[in-house]
Amino acid sequence: MKKELLRKLPAVDSLLKDSKIALLLKERSRPIVVEAIRTALDKERELIKGSDATLYRFNIDEFRKKVETEIEKSGKLSLARVVNATGVILHTNLGRAPLSVSALKNLIEVSTGYANLEFDLDRGERGERYSHLEPLLCSLTGSEAALVVNNNAAAVLLVLNTLAEGKEVIVSRGELVEIGGSFRIPDVMRKSGARLVEVGTTNRTHLRDYEVALTPETSLIMKVHRSNFDMVGFTADVPIQDLVRLGKDNNIPVMNDLGSGSIIDLSRYWGLSLFTGGAKRSGRMGTVPVIREPTVQDSVAAGIDVITFSGDKLLGGPQAGIIIGKKEVIEAIKKNPLTRALRIDKLTVAALEATLKIYMDELKALHEIPVLRMLTLQVADLAKSARRLLKGLRGIQGGRFDVSIRDGFSQVGGGAMPLQEIPTKLVAIKAKGISPDRLEKKLRTNSNAIVARIERDEVVFDMRTLIEGDIEIITGFFKGASIG
Ligand SMILES: *Cc1c(COP(=O)(O)O)cnc(C)c1O
Repeated sequence: MKKELLRKLPAVDSLLKDSKIALLLKERSRPIVVEAIRTALDKERELIKGSDATLYRFNIDEFRKKVETEIEKSGKLSLARVVNATGVILHTNLGRAPLSVSALKNLIEVSTGYANLEFDLDRGERGERYSHLEPLLCSLTGSEAALVVNNNAAAVLLVLNTLAEGKEVIVSRGELVEIGGSFRIPDVMRKSGARLVEVGTTNRTHLRDYEVALTPETSLIMKVHRSNFDMVGFTADVPIQDLVRLGKDNNIPVMNDLGSGSIIDLSRYWGLSLFTGGAKRSGRMGTVPVIREPTVQDSVAAGIDVITFSGDKLLGGPQAGIIIGKKEVIEAIKKNPLTRALRIDKLTVAALEATLKIYMDELKALHEIPVLRMLTLQVADLAKSARRLLKGLRGIQGGRFDVSIRDGFSQVGGGAMPLQEIPTKLVAIKAKGISPDRLEKKLRTNSNAIVARIERDEVVFDMRTLIEGDIEIITGFFKGASIG
């Protein structure tokens, strides 16, 4: 039966001759129509194979509609802007840091024409692509030299490979972390060719643990920032200053993988005004503790030899792996052939240089870099956005939706500062006749995708991660005809 139906499906050529399908050729080129017919036919086959074949009937009118849908789909770009209403600021699945306007402008400026990417205009000879970033990174962090590669995972791999291939690297057991997306310190270590020497226990590592692990084969001491988890209770860590001294005494470099790598100490701005804006959880009003994340400058000042961090986490720039440190270490890394394989392109240089430039003025950075702006938005401002959205949603579709403003918490995300709660304002929506799960899916699969979260059986929009125009997109969705 199924075989019979499959055999009877019309061929692409005969379909193209059908007058109803041929009409499509007037609007679209032949290869696009042919491809759409093929995809639609594949789906018919799946339908025949997958369901009760006795109910299946090939209908040319329905089939044409399916082909039209396929044509429409093929014209749409797969990677597109989405509304992030999750409240997770560095949402790894949603592309981490949104770029600042000036980074974007520079990206367009530099990449629509030619650029002096590797050309020294003063001397008229070959230059270095890293030269556009190195002076800025040095002046912002206080380091001697700098280099930027594809991402921080690449940065860690490259540093380990350069300094420790075939040799031993000492790491505390409490720092053998897994970052999302299959980045695990022991795995990266193995791929770099370095031999991992674990010291201490899961919860406690002491300076003497490092001391007794030193051998003539030791070529690096590595400190990894626990970006995405924290340990409480009976714990002990060795301060970076002590590791630096141990390294100096034994002539062994010390590396610090910082992960997020913040250049601004946010805890200075997360003052009382931000954290007393009516934060409420299980009936408790009051201040939320502010966690101080170590800055990149802290590590440089402590005398660490080489530091790595991401470009698109707390820094708020494009995806990149930033390596800063002592001159001789950075020089050695630049000479490693692996550097060529991990190098950044002009788009990254353009966006990163413009982002770093903003940091020359700290207050400007808090204002212009989206990640920093979102992180320091006052609850009072979020309340204003919430009221605006509420107003836009009230009375839509005959009062079908039950809309209210709630207190809630946003997250830093991107595996950074997991324990830091950031008070925020949420707009919660309940619709008659549609479950929260279905509504959440409808929002997500809308032509302007809206990613929201579900909390206590309601779809909620967190005001903190919305950017300009997003409120209009959300109200536009609810004004739209069929929500189901
Ligand atoms: C995020 C992170 C990485 C990986 O950085 P990417 O830029 O995502 O490659 C490595 N180490 C630590 C500690 C991190 O937090």
